[in-house]
Amino acid sequence: MQITRAVLDEIVARLLAQGLAAAAGAGAKSTAGIKAETVEHTDPHLVPIGISNRHIHLSRSDMDALFGPGSQLTRKAALKQPGQYAAEELVTLRGPKGEISKVRVLGPLRKETQIEVSIADGFVLGIKPPMRMSGKLESTPGVELVGPHGTVKKEGGVIVALRHIHMLPAEAAKLGLKNGDEVDVVVEGVRGGVMHHVTIRAAEASSTEMHIDVEEANAFRLKNNTLVRIVKV
Ligand SMILES: [Zn+2]
Repeated sequence: MQITRAVLDEIVARLLAQGLAAAAGAGAKSTAGIKAETVEHTDPHLVPIGISNRHIHLSRSDMDALFGPGSQLTRKAALKQPGQYAAEELVTLRGPKGEISKVRVLGPLRKETQIEVSIADGFVLGIKPPMRMSGKLESTPGVELVGPHGTVKKEGGVIVALRHIHMLPAEAAKLGLKNGDEVDVVVEGVRGGVMHHVTIRAAEASSTEMHIDVEEANAFRLKNNTLVRIVKV
């Protein structure tokens, strides 16, 4: 793999920041100023990849039906986006053609149930979910949800999530971008290429990260935390 100077700089900066953070935790207070300077010098065009496998966000009423009245999600692992987490709970998706089991529930609960799958998952289930941004669920196909306590037949809510980049509004502003803008993203490596139509999702309390699904990750041979570059800004 060929590593560009910019990527190398970013890696060094991150390692330094990590090392300094650890040192600061051990009581080396004098490093605090250096750490801030290091972070400030990182290239805002470089963003780490976060790969989303198929998953489901549940509403309170669907949680009740699938896992029992008043049931709570069990936190398994924190996701990079603040407040978001992978839960221990799993459900089965049952479509007209087939089933997919062990689909992870992501917390916290939401107003509306949303099921995010890949295009190939749609083939397995026998449905054709459209490519959508999170929350845009009008005219989407449904699927039957199977949990340990019961089942729910959803009339809609299944999407293939459109790729996007989370960042703070201040970070977006540094790149001359705002929420809802589209950019290109360049990927290096043997399956390198350019991803067009990547939407910027600028919001407070977010962590810089580009979300793609498993099929996109494999098509570009990308792994979690690999840095990619925003262009066309
Ligand atoms: Zn996302």
